Amino acid sequence: MPFFGIHLPHKKGTAQSATVKLPLPEVVKIPMSQHMGTPCEPTVKVGDTVTVGQKIGDSTAFMSTPVHSSVSGTVKAIGDYLLASGKVCKAVVIETDGNQTVSEDVKPPQVDDLKSFIAAIKESGCCGLGGAGFPTHIKLNVDIKDKPIDSLVINAAECEPYITSDCREIIERPDDVIDGIKQVMKYLEIENAYICIEKNKPEAIKLMKEKTASEGNIKVVPLRASYPQGAEKVVAYSATGRIVGEGELPSAKGIIVLNVSTAGFISRYLKTGMPLVEKRLTLDGDAFRTPCNVMALVGTPVSKLIKFADGAEGAIAKLIAGGPMMGMCLYDFETPVTKTNNAILGFTEKLAVRKEEQTACIHCGRCVSACPMKLMPNEIAKAYEAKDADMLRKLKLNLCMNCGSCSYVCPARRNVAETNQLAKGLIR
Ligand code: SF4
Ligand code: SF4
Repeated sequence: MPFFGIHLPHKKGTAQSATVKLPLPEVVKIPMSQHMGTPCEPTVKVGDTVTVGQKIGDSTAFMSTPVHSSVSGTVKAIGDYLLASGKVCKAVVIETDGNQTVSEDVKPPQVDDLKSFIAAIKESGCCGLGGAGFPTHIKLNVDIKDKPIDSLVINAAECEPYITSDCREIIERPDDVIDGIKQVMKYLEIENAYICIEKNKPEAIKLMKEKTASEGNIKVVPLRASYPQGAEKVVAYSATGRIVGEGELPSAKGIIVLNVSTAGFISRYLKTGMPLVEKRLTLDGDAFRTPCNVMALVGTPVSKLIKFADGAEGAIAKLIAGGPMMGMCLYDFETPVTKTNNAILGFTEKLAVRKEEQTACIHCGRCVSACPMKLMPNEIAKAYEAKDADMLRKLKLNLCMNCGSCSYVCPARRNVAETNQLAKGLIR
């Protein structure tokens, strides 16, 4: 399965922008669903006083992870909140008191074996920080006696244009990254780790090579800068040469893939016990006069980030959480920052609005060549138009990861990836 991918303009203009801590907002709104899986239920009520790192949401469901307060203050409201994905979950609104008093629950966890390690990661509220939000304790909870893991793949590809937040994690907190990797290797008894970084981040590659020079079992793997190099199965293949098949998790092939910022967070959590309450984000796009990287508390309204980057709300025609290829369009400037946000991009009409109309498919096959999953997006579109659910299943629509490569290369400007999403709805 050689991977070629597509070439996108990198636009990594904030790569040298050191992370700045965003000022404390007056109010935060913390959604109970910031991870893949079952949303949490609030464990606080209106009027309660809360502190930084205090648990404010939890769930007994297997596929979930707790939510913590990012501020100290008073719970002002709890209500339904419409997520950018269109789903509704509860959110806890907290008025900050300005003191940032840390919860007495925040202390380094007692960890001495795999079981206590997994329990600690669960309590940290950690989920995949690359954007997918898969609960980290579930990813790491592998029966290593039955299914040994020999390769830890650290995903620092950061292949979407504009985003540099993972790159900044490496440059600003390299020792946390290495320590997090070592902790995971130790408790899961993993022999080798591969830090995968696209070649367009030479400073990060150099630094990781220096930091791992004496670590024989941690290798830095420079990757060709092509999209979507950071997709889980693609990066697993690039690092190990192993193909993770349809319906398989990487662990079936002895691999665990972790985002680089997740590795750094694990190290800090084990040392301090401070759960996941803040997130580094890249602010970029032509609607922002001062593109930069910021550290924002979870629940901070995006409007504060826009202001910080000197963006004029009136000039923003498209606001995206995440990258331009796989990010989610935001309809509300008051949308709160969540654990999985790695960028907020603002574009003016000049860049946000497509001028050309789409034309008929010319059967050029470029979408097929571009697809990292070897799908036939043109045929999928045809089957969707015919509302042929059986054909959509035969064409393996379920493997589409919505990377957008097919739409990007289409000379007829057809919304191929968008059609795939609609088609997924049809077969559901
Ligand atoms: S969006 Fe889906 S069909 Fe299109 S290139 Fe990506 S994986 Fe393939
Ligand atoms: S790239 Fe566009 S025009 Fe070419 S085959 Fe695919 S859908 Fe048709």
